[in-house]
Amino acid sequence: MTNIVEFHNVRKSYGALEVLKGVSLSVPKGSVVALIGRSGSGKSTALRCVNGLESIQGGELNVCGRKLHEAGVKLRELRKDVGIVFQSYNLFPHKTVEENITLSPRLTRGLSKAQAREVAQRVLAQVGLSEKAASYPEQLSGGQQQRVAIARSLAMEPELMLFDEVTSALDPELTGEVLKTIEALAKGGMTMILVTHEMAFAKRVANQIVFMHQGVVWETGDGRMLDAPQTPELRNFIGNGL
Ligand code: ADP
Ligand code: MG
Repeated sequence: MTNIVEFHNVRKSYGALEVLKGVSLSVPKGSVVALIGRSGSGKSTALRCVNGLESIQGGELNVCGRKLHEAGVKLRELRKDVGIVFQSYNLFPHKTVEENITLSPRLTRGLSKAQAREVAQRVLAQVGLSEKAASYPEQLSGGQQQRVAIARSLAMEPELMLFDEVTSALDPELTGEVLKTIEALAKGGMTMILVTHEMAFAKRVANQIVFMHQGVVWETGDGRMLDAPQTPELRNFIGNGL
């Protein structure tokens, strides 16, 4: 099976602070990997390394056929293949939903206006917001805005999607619709890595769960590992919630 992402003993420091201390993990094409762990365990840093927002200091990191541990990787090319969605959705407030979505594809993929509109319609349908193309962000709920942010990423036709706690800023009643959108993408075969605190969701959707602790992969397995943790650290993390 092809791996879209491979970490081999990856090390990453911010100055003197080593945050990733030899992380190894693989993401096969079409699979969903959920990263869980305490705040500060290095989950966001790991994701940011995958799309080149952070450089690594040791080990090897292969993403979509590129060797990020070697010099000369074209980050702009990499980021066409790797979409990332954060907790804050950062839509342009003075642009419509459709304009927010078509901006990047027009600039970086050279699509005509008509082609970009077609793409926008398709990705809005994927996130269940076809009727909102002409709306402005402030006219949407937080959950809908986050789904637009996901659609905006999909419009680049990425090979891999990264989600970093995309529901953490949302009211609980809006979380479900965003998770449903992500679950539908997963069912459609999208390869993804997601950082989440939603354990039931991770268990249901992820093929592999990775518990990060103190900058390494402490424990990994399928959803069953959440019912039968092998280490006191994972047991403690699950038991105490977050
Ligand atoms: P998580 O997402 O699991 O909460 P992070 O990857 O955000 O963890 O952070 C891991 C550690 O790295 C934390 O101690 C955090 O303070 C530190 N850190 C994260 N980003 C930076 C940065 N840009 N500069 C310095 N330290 C950082
Ligand atoms: Mg984080």
